[in-house]
Amino acid sequence: MLPDILFRSFRDFISVSDFSKKKLAECCGGSRVIDLLLHFPSSISVRSGDIENFKSKLTVVVKIHDHIAPKNRSAPYRIIAYTQQGVEIHIVYFNYNKWHLRKTFPEGAQFTVSGNAKRTLEAIEIVHPDIVAAPSLYSSYVGIEPVYPLTARLTNKTVCYAIQSLLKILPEMPEWLPSSYISFGDALYNIHNPRSSDDLDANSPSRQRIALDELLAQQIKLRQIKSINQEHVSAPMVSTGELLSRVHLPFQLTDGQVSCIEDIKRDLASGRPMNRLIQGDVGSGKTIVAFLAQLIAIENHMQTVMLAPTAILAEQHWATFQKLFSNLSVQMDIMLGANRRGRAQQLMKLASGETQLLIATHAVLEDNVIFKNLGLVVIDEQHRFGVMQRLNLINKCHHPHLLTMSATPIPRTVLLGCYGDLDVSIVGDKPMSRRPITTIVMNATKVEALIEKIQKKDTQVFWVCPVIEESEELVDVYQRFEFLARILGESSVRVLHGRMNAEQKNDIMRQFRDNEFKILIATTVIEVGVDIPNANIIVIEHAERFGLAQLHQLRGRVGRGCEDSYCILLYHEPLSSVARKRLSLLRDTDDGFVLSEEDLKLRGAGDILGKEQSGFHSLRFSDYAYNGLLLQKAVDLSSRVTDPSVVDFLLKIFNRPEQTTIWN
Ligand code: ADP
Ligand code: MG
Repeated sequence: MLPDILFRSFRDFISVSDFSKKKLAECCGGSRVIDLLLHFPSSISVRSGDIENFKSKLTVVVKIHDHIAPKNRSAPYRIIAYTQQGVEIHIVYFNYNKWHLRKTFPEGAQFTVSGNAKRTLEAIEIVHPDIVAAPSLYSSYVGIEPVYPLTARLTNKTVCYAIQSLLKILPEMPEWLPSSYISFGDALYNIHNPRSSDDLDANSPSRQRIALDELLAQQIKLRQIKSINQEHVSAPMVSTGELLSRVHLPFQLTDGQVSCIEDIKRDLASGRPMNRLIQGDVGSGKTIVAFLAQLIAIENHMQTVMLAPTAILAEQHWATFQKLFSNLSVQMDIMLGANRRGRAQQLMKLASGETQLLIATHAVLEDNVIFKNLGLVVIDEQHRFGVMQRLNLINKCHHPHLLTMSATPIPRTVLLGCYGDLDVSIVGDKPMSRRPITTIVMNATKVEALIEKIQKKDTQVFWVCPVIEESEELVDVYQRFEFLARILGESSVRVLHGRMNAEQKNDIMRQFRDNEFKILIATTVIEVGVDIPNANIIVIEHAERFGLAQLHQLRGRVGRGCEDSYCILLYHEPLSSVARKRLSLLRDTDDGFVLSEEDLKLRGAGDILGKEQSGFHSLRFSDYAYNGLLLQKAVDLSSRVTDPSVVDFLLKIFNRPEQTTIWN
């Protein structure tokens, strides 16, 4: 039997104040026994019992001898005590309540006292001891103590005590992994009772065990999603030609685009839900491939949605579709988070099936958005959306076909871990009109010379800064704005960043597209997908701060027109040798796959795919970058761990309820 106790509220099993229970729940991000047990120490501290050779913390048993209250309130209060061997110990308090201290430490009484200690001329001082307990408890306060991440008004002592209480009631558990692994219960015990700093290492057997369980849980989940999908039969969608035959593109599709469309057509016709990822470098023309797939869905009288990570991008897709397919009279609509006017009518048109193609941002994930018959979901820049968000959208209808697109080449291990084994098409080539981009690595001290050159060129410029405003050490958007506006004039420069509302952002983008100003200073909001052919220079400030994959993405903003294009990587000293190497690598290679593998080695998967948005933050104990081997083990194990009760148990352990109930 697998113990249910792990999923019960820990409040019933530990005797601390209600306030502390609440703080504990906040601290570990959950209220279940397992949530607290999965709150791991981040370091250790050593409480020595050796009065001759202690380092910082000392634990002693003392007998109280006398109190010395200073006349001057700002001086410390001193309690004189002696060990059994007659060593003089001073217990010292700065902010004190005299009466309270007198009551707590009556003369002649004995205590175990522990805390930061230092040797002075007269005695050993323990300032604000963090432990005052009965002499019989001495041994429990000597030795190595785990140190936990804390929140305000919660002490390490409370966390230690709570976790140790829970470990004591942890029942025997049947094991689901082969016996070569340390058991789940032992792993938890070891993690919370470290014997040296080695036990804190992510590679310690105990931590590896928990990381493996976490990856296993994720693999099981992916398998479940996949098998649900495979059981499902979806009506085959075959192009009737009704719309496709009337498409007249102003350019010829590349071979890569054609072969992607062939893959998609095959999937759509198969009678099983498609789950395909299109990978293609920035500018390889993925959007058009998706649109053509969407036309097939519409020909089959199904609705289809294109999900974009930003409003700017959604609007761009809207404009592109209008431009390319204006003759097809498709009923389309756009749904953005900010713009709620007319939402009721939008929802009605979706529910009635009148809207055939919806272009949307996250807004479409809300529960009140209901489709009549959603047949094909397209997710652009899919790594911007977490697993749960993808699921949420798919759940809006009966197993629609799913097409995802990514410009970030995703290394094989990461792909396996995040998506299970989905099908992948690669748009390998770029449209012929694309020009190579010259990348230049430049010291930021040369920025004035750079501006002079830019001034002479008849082109628009993206200028990327890492932060919006008021940063001590980094050049921020507004600082650069003022600088450039002074040289080039106010009307030549505009600012764009994520804290502006969607309308402001769109206005600026529109003006930039219409060539109303020369330089757009922005944060990485422009990273994703924006297409402005007349911008041929991108300057990236503090390039040393960005990941390679991200820099590559940014670089892809230019080189879309027919002029020569430049990417200027401005770095600020001091530049480490690793950073220098990485920037040179970026200068010398245009291969997104090479760059992303390199990033994976250096930074971890979360960084490649863009932090929180990636959904990687849900992994707490394992990082793909360092756990490639572990991931492979998890993949292998996931087909062997099939007992439904074990599966359920594992999923429950690592699926913290989304909305944690924290008691009031
Ligand atoms: P990405 O793959 O980065 O999403 P887009 O789909 O935004 O790239 O395409 C970038 C630009 O290339 C767009 O302006 C698009 O119209 C254009 N484009 C797409 N396919 C072709 C093609 N076969 N020939 C010429 N231009 C193309
Ligand atoms: Mg795109």
